[in-house]
Amino acid sequence: MTMEKTIAVIRGDGIGPEIIEQALRALDAAAARYGHRFHYVDADMGGCAIDRWGDPLPQAELDKCLGSDSVLLGAVGGPKWNGLPGDKRPEKGLLRLRAGLGVYSNNRPARIWPQLAAASPLKQEIVDRGIDFLIVRELIGGVYFGTHTTAVENGQRRAADIMSYTEQEIRRIGRIGFETARKRRGKLCSVEKSNVLDCSRLWKAVLHELAAEYPDVELSDMLVDNCAMQLVRDPSQFDVIVTENLFGDILSDEASMLTGSIGMIPSSSLGDTSRGLYEPIHGSAPDLAGTDQANPIGTILSAAMLLRYSFGLTAEADAMERAVSQVLDQGLRTGDIYDEAAPGCRKVGCREMGAAIVRQMQAG
Ligand code: NAD
Repeated sequence: MTMEKTIAVIRGDGIGPEIIEQALRALDAAAARYGHRFHYVDADMGGCAIDRWGDPLPQAELDKCLGSDSVLLGAVGGPKWNGLPGDKRPEKGLLRLRAGLGVYSNNRPARIWPQLAAASPLKQEIVDRGIDFLIVRELIGGVYFGTHTTAVENGQRRAADIMSYTEQEIRRIGRIGFETARKRRGKLCSVEKSNVLDCSRLWKAVLHELAAEYPDVELSDMLVDNCAMQLVRDPSQFDVIVTENLFGDILSDEASMLTGSIGMIPSSSLGDTSRGLYEPIHGSAPDLAGTDQANPIGTILSAAMLLRYSFGLTAEADAMERAVSQVLDQGLRTGDIYDEAAPGCRKVGCREMGAAIVRQMQAG
């Protein structure tokens, strides 16, 4: 069935515009092959919005996203805006976008591509056990959305950030964890710090209440510090990890490195509607901006997730993911995944990688 959809596109800062360009080419290739029409609406967010509008996410730009069927984002931020006060920084635009879209569940798959097994920093024997898990991170609660204060007390500067969760916030993300595990290997690991934090004790209690509704899912608990260690010791033990915002932010970056490169990993953020926010998990990589060296695969795979989860276009998403795999089979590598010792590999830039994936999609 032919589909006509509008996608809000936030190119952002640093390598954002370069990687988004390649993802749009891949989306156009999917549209051409399957007879769909995708309309793109550019929206400003991050540093470029500060430069243009004096605000990291003006309401009019958020409205463009709310008026679209889904949202694709590159990355925001960079040294140019680092000196700004907290509520004027590019990252504030990102937090407001997530909250404005109501996307409370961030899903980040961590799996090793067989072609890149050697790029993992883990020992081969650990990689051989398999790395294929998914982190479900709560995205619009916890300390990132708490009250932030800085004051001077008794001649000393003091800063405080409040972490808080309601049981309703925990229950809705907990359900996503259980539902996701049910569609995979049926194992859910709830990660918290219940030996110290009240928020974590509530988290654990609510997850165990929910477990009664999902008898087919095996629930386990793990303290976040132990989880950071277990991810390196034996990642094969994990299927789905569900955790709160701050812990999920840190653990998912750790998980990305296990698979070889942060440039390969997509993410989806969803709430209660089909409109989602799709973005690679890396930042704006200012060190690579404008050099045509960025890996566009994380963004292209994010576009594939958009097709799959927001539009229900499974065959199109499969085709995009297959094209990525075939291009890796052909030995094409951007700098971050290039290993000069690996036979048959060729280093390419961001544009050439994108073009090769598009060619593969056209070839079918
Ligand atoms: P980063 O993810 O931008 O970069 C970390 C390292 O990974 C760098 O060496 C970079 O070159 C490399 N890298 C990242 N993406 C890559 C890609 N696609 N291909 C090849 N290599 C890649 O993290 P950082 O340096 O800590 O942050 C840079 C800026 O990005 C900061 O302003 C930060 O606040 C912002 N940031 C934004 C987001 C977002 O937009 N969602 C997320 C994280 C960081």
